[in-house]
Amino acid sequence: MKNIKYLECTLCHNKYKPQDDLMTCLKCGEKGILDVVYDYDIIKPILTHEYLAKNKNFNIWRYLPILPVDENFTKNTLSVGWTPLYKSNNLSKKYNTKYLYIKDDGMNPTQSLKDRASVIACVKALEMKMEIISCSSTGNAASSLAGNAARLGLKTVIFVPERAPLGKLLQLKMYGADLIKVKGDYKAAFNLSKAAIDHYGWYNRNAAINPYLVEGKKTVALEIAEQLDFKPTDWVIVSVGDGCTIGGVYKGFSDLKELGLISRIPKIMGVQSSGCAPFCEAFANNRELEETEENTIADSIAVGIPRNPVKGMDAVVKSHGTYIEVSDDEIRKAMKELAESEGIFAEPAAAASLAGFIKARKDKIIQDNESVTFIVTGNGLKDQKTASSLINDWVEMEPDLNQLIRHIEKHKGDKPHE
Ligand SMILES: *Cc1c(COP(=O)(O)O)cnc(C)c1O
Repeated sequence: MKNIKYLECTLCHNKYKPQDDLMTCLKCGEKGILDVVYDYDIIKPILTHEYLAKNKNFNIWRYLPILPVDENFTKNTLSVGWTPLYKSNNLSKKYNTKYLYIKDDGMNPTQSLKDRASVIACVKALEMKMEIISCSSTGNAASSLAGNAARLGLKTVIFVPERAPLGKLLQLKMYGADLIKVKGDYKAAFNLSKAAIDHYGWYNRNAAINPYLVEGKKTVALEIAEQLDFKPTDWVIVSVGDGCTIGGVYKGFSDLKELGLISRIPKIMGVQSSGCAPFCEAFANNRELEETEENTIADSIAVGIPRNPVKGMDAVVKSHGTYIEVSDDEIRKAMKELAESEGIFAEPAAAASLAGFIKARKDKIIQDNESVTFIVTGNGLKDQKTASSLINDWVEMEPDLNQLIRHIEKHKGDKPHE
């Protein structure tokens, strides 16, 4: 915490001294999400290009000077972050975008970007000597918290909505979480978790409420910049639910700009499914967010009442980016296309970023000469139901070469992959 100047309310801009147990603004209440403001004058001489070039920590702790944690508690965590950034081989050609990059955050320890926030929550709990952490989640925050906590011997109580996919539930149970499946949607799970946390005093890993978690999520942007030699692409695209991830993406680039490590912040594009698009609708109509239904296959971004509206909207507005809506069908197609053409298997919410890219190219929102990174926020095996709906049956046969030859000859003219 030594490099933090203050915590600032995103609504009334009241400032607070950093205190571990302060979650939201005392004046604005639960809606008064706090932002961590660093003392860049202290950090600037420390966090330099040379410092990073020599840094052998290939996980999020390589950015410790600009993270809100005490180094002493970071030693035994899972290794989160420093996920691969691929230059596209095939999609770049198909969509005529020469510099197209894919940040594969499905490669994190529990296979989603949420690990970046969960590991911070666990370290904060250790700092505060708290033994139980709790959160509500559409699924990934939950499985991620459970895994990161297991590694550190912390207990978790986790609330998920009824629709959370089996893969994520299995992860939770394997990691030993106390799982509460709440009848109803994410809103219901969130409200029960909040009441329980208030009642029992557990450490709160709800990403919007806890100001330190966006700080973990911002490391995805720090990495994208560093992996591109501090010349990030013109656009960075990410899917949006509560708005914490996109808020983190903006924060990461904005930190780097403040520190003089990059010269400009990429335009940030937020993608939502048309079945649940409160940010897109608010952006398009230039109004406040309104509650919407949660009606999409992309369960991780099915958030009818986003908990981080200011950070989620600011990321797009301040970076001169945009919000874009895609249909569930476009998400399904993108999922298959990403797996087939780049070897990256994404869950629906994660493939939404590619769907957004494709749509933005079609609509000429992204120009021919612009460079792009899209973030794959979670692995496809987490949601096997959706993946199953995208493939036909497989061939089964006896271990008999003649039978195989007959099969191959019969299907010679078939289109590949169908
Ligand atoms: C949580 C999540 C998101 C969106 O993050 P928010 O902070 O809720 O906006 C996107 N993709 C995946 C896979 C997620 O788990």
